[in-house]
Amino acid sequence: MAFKCQRWTLANALPVIFVLWIIATVYGTHAWLHLRPLRERDARSFCVEAAVSNTLTALLLVCLGRAMFTDPGSVPDVPEWRDAQGGVWGSWQGARGGPVSRDPTGEDGSVVHEVKQTGGRRFCKWCDSYKPDRCHHCRVCKSCVLRMDHHCPWIANCVGFRNHKYFFLLVLYSFLSCAFILATMSQSLLRSLSLEYRSSRERFLMVFGLTLACIMALLLKAFLGLHIWLMLKATTTIELCEKRSRQGCSKPPPSYEQGAYENLRAVLGPHPLLWLLPVAPPAGDGLHFPVREARARAATGAGPGTAARAPAGAAGGGGALLGPEAEAGAPPALGEEPAVAR
Ligand SMILES: [Zn+2]
Ligand SMILES: [Zn+2]
Repeated sequence: MAFKCQRWTLANALPVIFVLWIIATVYGTHAWLHLRPLRERDARSFCVEAAVSNTLTALLLVCLGRAMFTDPGSVPDVPEWRDAQGGVWGSWQGARGGPVSRDPTGEDGSVVHEVKQTGGRRFCKWCDSYKPDRCHHCRVCKSCVLRMDHHCPWIANCVGFRNHKYFFLLVLYSFLSCAFILATMSQSLLRSLSLEYRSSRERFLMVFGLTLACIMALLLKAFLGLHIWLMLKATTTIELCEKRSRQGCSKPPPSYEQGAYENLRAVLGPHPLLWLLPVAPPAGDGLHFPVREARARAATGAGPGTAARAPAGAAGGGGALLGPEAEAGAPPALGEEPAVAR
């Protein structure tokens, strides 16, 4: 199913315009009030600082564009995800959320770990299709999004499987850019107070730009820290919220942790040398994710060596509480709304 581009309303475009205004204001005040006087005073420092500033800003803008316009990933419009009797899911009984008849591990290795409380497959009534693991419906984008992290109003797009890397790099380069501007332009502000003459208008604009950069740096630092932690834990913002609201549950949700290196590769792509560049997104289809074996067994209720057995309580509805629907009991549930919208 193609990602539906129904998000460009005026209300959705305003936060994007605000972000572009912040970038232009901070970059403009730095270039005009810090770099320009620096060129006349110290040509060597000017070359270094201008190169760093322009490189960070260019990377930031490329990441912003890619995060904004890359399809985060949606459920394929193929019978396997529409027809309960067809494809690799033909072993599942009943249509649209019927009980699970046996372990969801197919002959081809296809696995689904997140099911409803009743044991049925998760189904999106808005998109009229089944949901793969880690997929959630976004009502702003009007589409199911693969490995959805959250809907971000600042890029007017969902952060999902295919654009998560660009979003993370956008946060990283925005923070670095703000920190660099803070460190360098504050020197110009100090000079203007003692050594250099500046008009009151220039001083005001310098303080304004610095304040804006400082606020953004503080916000981005917290956000960057959270997303690095989430990446290392192989979880998403929605999954973190679900785990917290499900604390005390006897059955843990599936863990997608594969070790720090593999967790980073799952978001930043297969080549470590390209991790910090807005190219080479992660491999995979966004439909299937490896689960730690022990957790997988617990999640499906099957003991060691009994992989083909039915999930515990799958038919009776008292089994593993997996997936967003499980928490709410029936769709629509927690995961169908973007749990966190930034
Ligand atoms: Zn949907
Ligand atoms: Zn969305």
